[in-house]
Amino acid sequence: MEEITNLTKQLIRFQTTKDNTKELKRCINFVAKQLPKHLYVTKGVNKDKPYLIISVKRTKKPKLILTGHLDVIEAEQEQFRPKIKNGRIYGRGSADMKAGAAIAVQLMKEEKEKEIALMLTTDEEIGGADGIGYLSRQGWKPKIALSVEPSEQKINTKEKGVMWLKIIASGKAAHGSTPWKGENAIEKLIQKYLQIKKIFPKIGKDKWKITMNLGMIKGGHAPNKVPDKAEMWLDIRYTEKDNISRLLKKLRKIKGMQVKLLQKQPMLDTDENNHYIKQLKKIAKTSFKKELGASDVRFFAKRGVPAADFGPIGANYHGNNEWVSIRSMEEVYKTLKEFIGTL
Ligand SMILES: [Zn+2]
Repeated sequence: MEEITNLTKQLIRFQTTKDNTKELKRCINFVAKQLPKHLYVTKGVNKDKPYLIISVKRTKKPKLILTGHLDVIEAEQEQFRPKIKNGRIYGRGSADMKAGAAIAVQLMKEEKEKEIALMLTTDEEIGGADGIGYLSRQGWKPKIALSVEPSEQKINTKEKGVMWLKIIASGKAAHGSTPWKGENAIEKLIQKYLQIKKIFPKIGKDKWKITMNLGMIKGGHAPNKVPDKAEMWLDIRYTEKDNISRLLKKLRKIKGMQVKLLQKQPMLDTDENNHYIKQLKKIAKTSFKKELGASDVRFFAKRGVPAADFGPIGANYHGNNEWVSIRSMEEVYKTLKEFIGTL
């Protein structure tokens, strides 16, 4: 266990934020260097994002692929100095997910027989398309894919789907002193936004519902000009109950605005009766959980691979005072070790 705790602390010290390519590479190299000789190791870079694939056997169809990401959200310098207090490791990325990565690396180091592999990537926090998104299209087809993302030691089999839209309103430019001569695109966009907002349900106790977030707006050049163009970006998260194509059609019927589909990611909806998922649940003595956010394994799910998240207990991901429970790390390690033994 000490090895996993130490590795987690070492990984936290790397300032692996999205634009810090040098540090991302340094971190990947650091992990690669400590791997025993019996493992097959592939180091690569896709679109400036380094990755590492560690495999026990030379096959692209292992029983299990573990995934982990080494990138973290930007933080104050101090957060890159790990601290141990009250059985927890504090630091940026401790829970999300350098602890999980360290657990997975340790499992790989110890394994000599089973057909398992680990993919460590560095772009999960910005969508994962160039990491697991890319690697999942390179012919890898495991029986099951598991990400060691923090999941409170529960098994996430469901994650909401994601749709990003750009809404554009057009008007007519005029001087600010004669607004009646123009058509104000920003005002139009505000009206459209309020109209769109009404389509979405209010979120009460049940969070497993479709949501919409207005994340960005852009429009206008100067206070004394009637703007002729305004844009907004919407992040929509949906569940199995929502018909997303119908929603898109509905939005496209709204007059006076243009809808551009920027990206659409399916939801993770893994069969809870899948043999491997059931096996993991039994060993972990845990329950299933629905996750509101999206994780990397959905790229494997998209290709028909049963996929889920299973990782330690932690809190304050992406915030100050992020921590992960050392005892929980140990339990996750033991569970995965036993699970691998059954493969
Ligand atoms: Zn994560």
